[in-house]
Amino acid sequence: MSSVPLRRLRVNPILCDGVGYCAEIVPELIFLDDWGFPVIDPIPIEDETCLRHARKAVASCPKVALLLEHLEASGH
Ligand code: SF4
Repeated sequence: MSSVPLRRLRVNPILCDGVGYCAEIVPELIFLDDWGFPVIDPIPIEDETCLRHARKAVASCPKVALLLEHLEASGH
């Protein structure tokens, strides 16, 4: 249907220190577990505002523990 590349937010649990800035920046995709570590909604990001927040969270992470993974768009 669409050839627009989709992205999904992921966290590297080895780098993450669990302070939780990311959950404040993009609460629509990230909540914190009982220990303060981020749990990320694995769905592809389709909403522009959500993608903008996700990019901001990636750029703001002090441990460089977040990334936006590119997904193959389903089509044909
Ligand atoms: S901002 Fe980065 S280091 Fe902090 S909790 Fe989120 S992913 Fe982990």
